[in-house]
Amino acid sequence: SELKPMLELNDVHTYYDHIHALKGVSMTVNEGEIVALIGGNGAGKTTSLRTISGMMKPRRGTMTYQGQNISGIPAHHTMQKGISHVPEGRRIFKDLSVRENLEVGAYTVTDRALIEKRVQEGFEFFPRLKEREAQLGGTMSGGEQQMLAIARALMVNPRLLLLDEPSMGLSPLFVEAIFDIIVKLNKERGTTVLLVEQNASMALGIAHRAYVLQTGEVKLSGNAADIANDESVRKAYLGEE
Ligand code: ATP
Repeated sequence: SELKPMLELNDVHTYYDHIHALKGVSMTVNEGEIVALIGGNGAGKTTSLRTISGMMKPRRGTMTYQGQNISGIPAHHTMQKGISHVPEGRRIFKDLSVRENLEVGAYTVTDRALIEKRVQEGFEFFPRLKEREAQLGGTMSGGEQQMLAIARALMVNPRLLLLDEPSMGLSPLFVEAIFDIIVKLNKERGTTVLLVEQNASMALGIAHRAYVLQTGEVKLSGNAADIANDESVRKAYLGEE
């Protein structure tokens, strides 16, 4: 099967004021892939997702999504183009119910019937959320809130899902559940996924390809299996001596 590039970054530089966080990042995400973005603290993983979704503006470089230039385009526009970002720390609305959280996620959708259809699809995908439809977001467990954050991001029916540390702070059972859902989304809906993870071994276990970032630069890239077998990666990120 032929790979079709969906997202391409070329020599992207992003700053926080004078801090040069991305120093010429180039990467490609092909249609239908799960791509893992791994690296140590401060490597630029979160900044990469923020730059792609339009939360941050790159100072240099180009980004194209489905052949269109998206550099410097604000987040609500990239969302309308099919890019949905689940930021770090599952920022759900704690005082809204599960259903209300989902409905808010569809704020760019105006058709009521379509919103309801997507809510029902979300419940099919996450039965645990259906059981808790009326429960307040803030009273859900960490893993349930992460499911809600992902379900909410799916309300716009994205073609490209950007996931920032979905396993953070979750018990092993929930980590596995979240990773199963990512694989299912990719297989059943064909959703393309760019996945940032501290848990490099699990991320590489489900990804097709991976990029290793170090201090704002791509240090290594390739098939996930090759990256997982790379000696420097094993030492630095997979906890091996
Ligand atoms: P982690 O795994 O620790 O979250 P990361 O790979 O996601 O790391 P980023 O959060 O993208 O890394 O950070 C990249 C660089 O940008 C770091 O040097 C960091 O200190 C800096 N940085 C991140 N957020 C800000 C901010 N809001 N203001 C200033 N500098 C920031």
